[in-house]
Amino acid sequence: MRLVFLGGPGAGKGTQAKILNKKLGIPHVSTGDIFRSTIQKGGDDAKLLKSYMDAGKLVPDKVVLKIVASRLQEEDSKNGFILDGFPRTLDQAKGLDEILQQKNLKITGVFYFEINPDVLVDRLVSRRVCENCQAPYNLKSMPPKKDGICDLCGGKLIQRPDDQPDVIRKRFQEYIECTAPLVDYYEKQGLLVRLDASLPTEKVSQIIVELVQEMLPK
Ligand code: AMP
Repeated sequence: MRLVFLGGPGAGKGTQAKILNKKLGIPHVSTGDIFRSTIQKGGDDAKLLKSYMDAGKLVPDKVVLKIVASRLQEEDSKNGFILDGFPRTLDQAKGLDEILQQKNLKITGVFYFEINPDVLVDRLVSRRVCENCQAPYNLKSMPPKKDGICDLCGGKLIQRPDDQPDVIRKRFQEYIECTAPLVDYYEKQGLLVRLDASLPTEKVSQIIVELVQEMLPK
């Protein structure tokens, strides 16, 4: 099962990918998480990645594709994967097609998280993540049991630097200009499945699981 989760910032892709990862046991590949962990480790690319992310700009396609190609070579990707936040441009989508073609593989389905942008801004402003295990929270809809502390690992909850209002605005602009055209790209290929991402997390998760079950080979 090779899935792509597509949608605007804050649409719930990461949350749902983590839930599905637990249910299906296939890896959750989030380019955003990979970049954040590279920045935390302070590797060669850390400064460059941070400069793009802090400004809400997309990381150049070449850099992203190299990282994804290498991630999809790893052993755990053999049985499938959930791509979250990738592809984000038409060139990335075409690059992904090439990576898969080389392995004689195809995308199974693309879940498009549809939601009104006004709701998204509100969600992003109240979003918190665990700085240790990256578990997502929302101060309004999914608060932690103890203020500022991750329920799962006891790590500190932080607000992502790119969840500040001016950066959020830039991220939306990038989404509309570069990522939204992918809806059409995948719809034309008959791969797109539309989801109402404004529904509560548990409901969206239930719908995804049902859809995935229908996609599994009978
Ligand atoms: P995310 O965690 O998916 O919201 O991504 C956070 C930030 O990482 C984005 O605003 C971009 O700066 C960068 N990023 C993540 N994935 C990609 C991608 N596929 N292409 C370009 N930039 C990306």
